[in-house]
Amino acid sequence: MPAPRYRSRSKKRKHVTTPGKIAKIHYKKHGTSYKKCASCGNIIKTIPRLRGPNMHKVSKSKRRPNRMYGGYYCPSCLSKRIKTVVRKSLEIIEE
Ligand SMILES: [Zn+2]
Repeated sequence: MPAPRYRSRSKKRKHVTTPGKIAKIHYKKHGTSYKKCASCGNIIKTIPRLRGPNMHKVSKSKRRPNRMYGGYYCPSCLSKRIKTVVRKSLEIIEE
């Protein structure tokens, strides 16, 4: 019986014979999904699809786009939001 964490069938299995001729199963780790924009749900392509420790091997500038709300909003949604905020602030000043 495999350990509880390996009982899920969603993990990929590979049958391996060790140098001592013992049949074993090697389990692959889960992948990660694409990171998505919080507003429109489109994929933010610049963010690498890596798990925790591997993600920390990548430099911080490559982990997310280097702008405000980088890695949270896609560039088009961010520009729309900035425009709406600026236009609302201008309306308040004019009144
Ligand atoms: Zn978006």
